[in-house]
Amino acid sequence: MDRLNAFIDRSAPVLLGRLKRLVGFPTVNPPGEDYEAITGYLTRELGKVGLSGSRFPIPGPLLRSSLPAEQHGFPRFNVLGKLKVPGAKKTIHFNAHYDVVPVSGAWRHGNPFSGAVEKGVIYGRGTADMKGSMASLLTALDALQATRSRPLMNIEVSFTADEETDSFLGARWVVDEAPIRPDYAIVMEGAEGNQVCCGHNGTLWLEVTVHGRAAHGSKPEDGVNSLEKMAALVLELEAYKKQIARRTFVTPEGTTMRPTINVGGVFSCGPGSKINTVPAQASFSIDRRVLSVEDHAEAERRRRKADTGLPHHGLQGLGELLLLHQAGAPVLQGHGRQREACPRKAHRVQRVDRIQRHPLFRPPPGHPHARLRPGRRGHPRGE
Ligand SMILES: [Zn+2]
Repeated sequence: MDRLNAFIDRSAPVLLGRLKRLVGFPTVNPPGEDYEAITGYLTRELGKVGLSGSRFPIPGPLLRSSLPAEQHGFPRFNVLGKLKVPGAKKTIHFNAHYDVVPVSGAWRHGNPFSGAVEKGVIYGRGTADMKGSMASLLTALDALQATRSRPLMNIEVSFTADEETDSFLGARWVVDEAPIRPDYAIVMEGAEGNQVCCGHNGTLWLEVTVHGRAAHGSKPEDGVNSLEKMAALVLELEAYKKQIARRTFVTPEGTTMRPTINVGGVFSCGPGSKINTVPAQASFSIDRRVLSVEDHAEAERRRRKADTGLPHHGLQGLGELLLLHQAGAPVLQGHGRQREACPRKAHRVQRVDRIQRHPLFRPPPGHPHARLRPGRRGHPRGE
């Protein structure tokens, strides 16, 4: 152990150099820039620290079927590394994502991809989330090799794409398709300090489009105002927000977690909007975070319950719901239900142009995009 610690202490300049190099790849997602360069570098670095590293490009058809058209020119890659330890029966897996969110606003420390060091602190997009973790892991593996230390378990490493969007071609690919067999997994997500956490909340992202009927602004009684309908719907969700806030989950480390719902991170009017028209379309997003004590089906069932007030607002059958993304909520064994350590499924949804009279907020199984419009006879005036 002393030799390991001594090596790590000596490695500070190398660690810093690796981190600067990693920050220097502007792996901004979306759209997914510079993935080829950073994964090439990471594969080589894994080789240098004694692992067999390989890079797996995502095949074109899968990439095109799961990414929006404007991202088809940005290839996706995941990197796997393995260290077989003679006699070891178990395998531990370390995961990190290499993409970063776009930079906005003013950056006080020069270029956000320069990795500037000021007063002993390195600044740059992705240093904490989570290129610092990757540089640290490479240094730890380097220490094992340099000191000829023999770990108790086989080691697997994955460096993955697209965590900042939906992980479908990154962590999801590793779980469903990569040639790995871990017994344990550690996600080295940054910004948690020295704390080890046991799971992550799940996400359910929805886009709701409310349809009305256009009319001239001087005769609003001839139309159905989608903005007014949307406003009523948002108010209903306020009650639902209070209801779910009463649900709690205490993590093994003692933190009380509550499910959340964020409304309108994105909202917009439909095409052809003009000040003197009755708006025919309005849409907004919902970001629902699901706890490990909930599941998505349960979340949907409870939300339906909360929707009983909707017909009073004339909303039933007026909306269109698009499930943008769904990822499981993992939790450690022994705390309720056990779940997988990575999202099992992340849906990208295709349009289903069928008129379905499903209650709002309930995508039918297998068809997460329910399209709901006014019935054939439309809605009565003054609704
Ligand atoms: Zn992250």
